[in-house]
Amino acid sequence: MRILDGIEELRAWRRGLEPGATVGFVPTMGALHDGHLSLVARAREAAEVVAVSVFVNPTQFGANEDLDRYPRDREGDAERTGSAGADAIWFAREEEVYPPGFATTVDLPPIARRLCGLDRPVHFPGVALIVLKLFHLFRPTHAFFGEKDYQQCVLVERMVRDLDLEIEIVRCPLVREESGLARSSRNSNLTPEGREVGVALSRGLFRAREAFDRGERDAARLIAGAAVEIEDPRISLEYLELVDPVTLAPLDAVDPERGGRLLVAARLESVRLIDNIALGGEGGGA
Ligand code: AMP
Repeated sequence: MRILDGIEELRAWRRGLEPGATVGFVPTMGALHDGHLSLVARAREAAEVVAVSVFVNPTQFGANEDLDRYPRDREGDAERTGSAGADAIWFAREEEVYPPGFATTVDLPPIARRLCGLDRPVHFPGVALIVLKLFHLFRPTHAFFGEKDYQQCVLVERMVRDLDLEIEIVRCPLVREESGLARSSRNSNLTPEGREVGVALSRGLFRAREAFDRGERDAARLIAGAAVEIEDPRISLEYLELVDPVTLAPLDAVDPERGGRLLVAARLESVRLIDNIALGGEGGGA
């Protein structure tokens, strides 16, 4: 596997690929775990060339967020990506990605200011900006995103359609730890106790899913059932919402054909955790 540093190396590598090769791209912020590697494995199945980027993108972090505390593991990332079968990993340099004078922004639809965008107004514009830049640098035919970041999937798909980018966005299922906790690079900032307490989020989502499978369709009751599991003085809930899987508009009731998505964000030991689950629709239970 090639380890690439800086924009010039990346461009030279990209120019050297067979013209017409399918290129599968997995953008990440590093500290890679099995969730990320599931995206690499999916890319390996779908594309002739597989590339991973690592960049803790400062424009998607607000002023008081955990940019400085975000875990970094360059050597581990290179090793894991290579074992997962990628052809290249690129480590971006911040001064090249955002050189002095950088001023362009990406404007997003109103759903970018709901859910995770409500408490983190700069987050999705920063994500869209870096994803768009990375798409231009890697020129992938396919790009792989995890449903762990469900709202991000929806927004990236919207951007790709709206801007006529010729890239197939492939959604990959959320990968959990054995306990049920959604895998996240940020989990390494939790204490062992925090990891146990954090399982409450997925317990809540699974409880809603069970209620849905038993025939419950009412959003308020599905949410209330999840909230009972999540309730803990150590967990500070940011949101727990049941939304339409496409528009992300809040639902009063779930139509099992169309489905719903129950999304949660919470803080625990100053670590921000997110999780979500499908209720009905494609692959979402009864
Ligand atoms: P991040 O490094 O957190 O920016 O994530 C990079 C990509 O990996 C995004 O598309 C995430 O949705 C995806 N990802 C992160 N954690 C998981 C997980 N537990 N399961 C599936 N995909 C994930």
